Amino acid sequence: MSYYAPSIEKLIESFERLPSIGHKTAVRLAFHMLDLSKEETEEFINSIKEAKEKLKYCSTCFNITDVDPCPICSSPKRDQSIICVVEDVRDIMAMERTHEYKGVYHVLHGTISPMNGIGPDDIKIKELLARLQNNEIKEVIIATNPRVEGEATSIYLSKLIKPLGIKVTRIAHGIPVGGDLEYTDEITLMKAMEGRREI
Ligand SMILES: [Zn+2]
Repeated sequence: MSYYAPSIEKLIESFERLPSIGHKTAVRLAFHMLDLSKEETEEFINSIKEAKEKLKYCSTCFNITDVDPCPICSSPKRDQSIICVVEDVRDIMAMERTHEYKGVYHVLHGTISPMNGIGPDDIKIKELLARLQNNEIKEVIIATNPRVEGEATSIYLSKLIKPLGIKVTRIAHGIPVGGDLEYTDEITLMKAMEGRREI
């Protein structure tokens, strides 16, 4: 039996569907929303709408962007001959926070994971290989997370890329095994980049 009015119950349910939000937090957020002014509510709704409508994937690197190509791919300050391969868009944010990396990126949108039925064709590997064919790429830095799937993807990629005569490196393991790039502090990530090794 529910203690709340149906409309607030519905709002609580919507929050509960979000990742890492339990029932208690959902209730707190729902009631917080009720306290917002009309303007604040509209601003919140519009920011969700705008993000959903405007954001798309960069057709080059598959970063999330509202302009295509994304600002990183189109920046003359970035070294287009070095590509850092990451699993997730959020890993780009983590790398960018170090302010050290000046190359460009390629987002795989996942890792190869036979256990979960994800094969090479299910992530952006074909697109990466196409980029390597058409451009003067000197180095591919593989920065997938140091989990089993991340390592397997790294080995798979190096086998495909090395025969093309392109240097392939893997970031060092300053990152805790099983850890996430997204939650790694900038210094550790910077050291992991500096300590990358050819594979
Ligand atoms: Zn891009």
